[in-house]
Amino acid sequence: MTIFSKIVSGEIPCNKVLENEDFLAFHDINPKAPVHILIIPKIEYTCFQEVDPKIMVGLTEFTQKVAKLLGLDERGYRLITNNGSDGGQEVLHLHFHLLGGAKLSWSHL
Ligand code: AMP
Repeated sequence: MTIFSKIVSGEIPCNKVLENEDFLAFHDINPKAPVHILIIPKIEYTCFQEVDPKIMVGLTEFTQKVAKLLGLDERGYRLITNNGSDGGQEVLHLHFHLLGGAKLSWSHL
């Protein structure tokens, strides 16, 4: 079980932004931008390469809602997923990084 599944089950606390039946958004513990949110499916897919593409519709709608809730929809934001070892993925539970709140440069990667 990944640390993110423990967050989903409530075993580990998080600073929650939004939740529905399938997805959870919470603040990254080590933010790389003024706003840094992690968006995860509650089901534990290892990474983007392994995800069932069918959930991406719901994940897209959910991500758009999170961006709007945080007032990022007008200003803009960056959405990233690190995939696997070369991609720099540390937590093997699919997650998207939603970064914003400043004019981002490539150094925010
Ligand atoms: P990645 O390198 O793409 O796997 O990103 C993992 C992210 O999870 C990093 O940005 C970490 O800061 C973040 N992270 C790890 N543990 C926690 C936690 N308990 N709560 C919130 N964010 C976390």
